[in-house]
Amino acid sequence: ILIYLFNFKIILGKNGVPVAENFRLEQSTIPDTVQEGQVRVRTLYLSVDPYMRCRMNEDTGSDYLLPWQLSEAADGGGIGVVEESKHNNFAKGDFVTSFKWPWQTVAVLDGSLLQKLVPQLVDGHLSFFLGAAGLTGLTALLGIKEKGHVSAGANQTMVVSGAAGACGSLAGQIGRLEGCTTVVGIAGTDEKCSILVSEMGFDAAINYKKGNVAEQLRELCPGGVDVYFDNVGGDISNAVINQMNKNSHIILCGQISQYNKDVPYPPPLPPEVEKIQKERNITRERFLVLNYMDKQEASVIQLCQWIREGKLKVRETVVDGLENIGAAFQSMMNGGNIGKQIVSVSK
Ligand code: NAP
Repeated sequence: ILIYLFNFKIILGKNGVPVAENFRLEQSTIPDTVQEGQVRVRTLYLSVDPYMRCRMNEDTGSDYLLPWQLSEAADGGGIGVVEESKHNNFAKGDFVTSFKWPWQTVAVLDGSLLQKLVPQLVDGHLSFFLGAAGLTGLTALLGIKEKGHVSAGANQTMVVSGAAGACGSLAGQIGRLEGCTTVVGIAGTDEKCSILVSEMGFDAAINYKKGNVAEQLRELCPGGVDVYFDNVGGDISNAVINQMNKNSHIILCGQISQYNKDVPYPPPLPPEVEKIQKERNITRERFLVLNYMDKQEASVIQLCQWIREGKLKVRETVVDGLENIGAAFQSMMNGGNIGKQIVSVSK
């Protein structure tokens, strides 16, 4: 089998930009026999996600994330098919997923790590379970429900940063489905901005690498911002918070612009922005999807229904081959993806 190993830590420690060479590919063997309670799986899809940057540090900054160990297989979200099972819940041919899937073409895993998938829920589009019908979709939906205070008829304006990414592209659409009247995205290329408007139903999108974000926001959101789905932090978020209304809400989903820096999470706002946040009574509570797993089942059913009905448009950027997963991770961290970045390992 092929196995993708974590190769070396970011040279500068917490301050540093990940590159494909942080990983290396090796050929290896796995045990011939499957023990009681275990399952042998063939990997179909792997996910690369921003939180993995924290797993490259000695100290991940979160007690729910363990650092990747040098010269061990990296792991994360994955999907595969059961080839042999000695676990009562799984049979040959079942499609399964895990949050702790090793970056290998084939693996022997404890059945307790796996969840069975129902492909019909996503019309057979299995990789959606790593994105729109998985943790990404849950993050967008539950972030809005738990922290967004969106209510139909309240004439709210939502702004989404990282808007053309996996979470962001869903968050804007779900904001609309939940009742926001105006949805504006912020993303890193003209192509992304045009897809947000033409495909995903955003009212407008701002390319933050061109022109002045604050000026464009003022034009596009003349009544101010009521809900801000924040994926990025930093200067973009400071500009948005400046234009937020009294008693409005930030959904603190992620702060990707800060992940290569040695700062705590969530990073503190600059004093002048924090002053605005306090004076206007803007909520900015930490949100972690894993704290709401009691709502997983009902939420996945809701997301899948929206996907099948065409109410939630899903985009993926798919890279083929386990050997390209390091490059896919690097590319996603640098904005190379539209929608969810997926690595297709085998058919
Ligand atoms: P993603 O948005 O699909 O991919 C990352 C995107 O971030 C890139 O495509 C890039 O797009 C943008 N980006 C990179 N560096 C940036 C910078 N310096 N400034 C502005 N934008 C930058 O990834 P995702 O999986 O959906 O994750 C999005 C956010 O959600 C991350 O912050 C992640 O940590 C967070 N998250 C949180 C939870 C939770 O439970 N709270 C769960 C999942 C994910 P551009 O071209 O627009 O720059």
